Amino acid sequence: MAKVNLMDLTLEQMKEFLINIGEEPYRGKQLCQWVLQKGVKDFNAMTNISKALRQKLERLAALGGVNILARQESAGGDTVKYLFQFPDGQAVESVLMKHSYGRTACVSTQVGCRMGCRFCASTIEGMVRNLKAGEIYDQVLAIQRDTGERVSHVVLMGSGEPLDNYDNAVQFIKNVTAPYGLNISYRHITLSTCGIVPGIKKLAREKMPITLAVSLHAPNDRLRNQLMPINRRYPLGQLIPACREYAQVTGRRITFEYSLIKDVNDRAEHASELGELLKHISCHVNLIPVNPVRERGFNRTPQEQVNRFKNILAERGINATVRKEMGTDIDAACGQLRRKTMKAGLPQGGTTG
Ligand code: SAH
Repeated sequence: MAKVNLMDLTLEQMKEFLINIGEEPYRGKQLCQWVLQKGVKDFNAMTNISKALRQKLERLAALGGVNILARQESAGGDTVKYLFQFPDGQAVESVLMKHSYGRTACVSTQVGCRMGCRFCASTIEGMVRNLKAGEIYDQVLAIQRDTGERVSHVVLMGSGEPLDNYDNAVQFIKNVTAPYGLNISYRHITLSTCGIVPGIKKLAREKMPITLAVSLHAPNDRLRNQLMPINRRYPLGQLIPACREYAQVTGRRITFEYSLIKDVNDRAEHASELGELLKHISCHVNLIPVNPVRERGFNRTPQEQVNRFKNILAERGINATVRKEMGTDIDAACGQLRRKTMKAGLPQGGTTG
């Protein structure tokens, strides 16, 4: 029988697991604290658990764990990119961003991605597998271990589409915000989606006041269909009302991400059209000069044009900021470090992508 990874369990599930193996459920909280709060990787470190139970757990359960396969630090040291490898050999990227207000971990939710966005490196070779909740959680713990600093904010914006791995993404968010976990405030969590409408509607009802970021990148269906295949399944006529609903149900402002690609989606008329599209939604627009990906052949919009785009939105009463760029010198755009490392033939221990 496969061992249960205790990092995948919520407190309730931990108690059930204990009952199933003939133990007292009240131990659940202690175990969660060891696994999710302290992040121990050895049952013997669990000093308030009896030796007999530790030995039993050793036989029946696992504690997750990731290896750092590659680590790149930006010149200024404000961004660190990791390539983490799981016991089956698969690897994903995570990024730590050091802000004045805290430390943000950007985590991956899938190995690869099947959404096919034209400008994104993570999706070039499709999706390999979903990450389990514990594997998403382990990325945060590994970053804390490496830096010795508490992670205060989490963004689900690494490789993968979180709403295409809904249950694991939500379970991760529950544990990372739990008092028996890392106790990170819901308000410090952002989930980014390419626009899976049923997932957005379901998430609105989870009673988790997290920020929803929606990758828009185009102000009309014609252009969005070209850049993001998901739009053919859930066009703007469905996506925008779902976003409005999310904002209404949760009381949270939506963040729209818009990567500016030279001569593709960055003209003045695109900005006006975007302003029109978003005018009745409580939102904020994040403008991101596209990170050129070698395989994709897109270029970034010049700074002047970025500012012009922003001003047109402002004239229409839409609050937009140009995302502070961090770590472009370290391939911080999705999927680039993994592709480079794997191609260079670093130890894989399994097949990737
Ligand atoms: N699948 C989710 C989360 C992962 S991508 C989503 O689509 O939102 C995180 C963000 O990076 C998305 O807004 C995505 O569109 C954007 N992105 C991907 N590749 C990029 C690139 N080369 N340059 C700029 N942004 C990129």
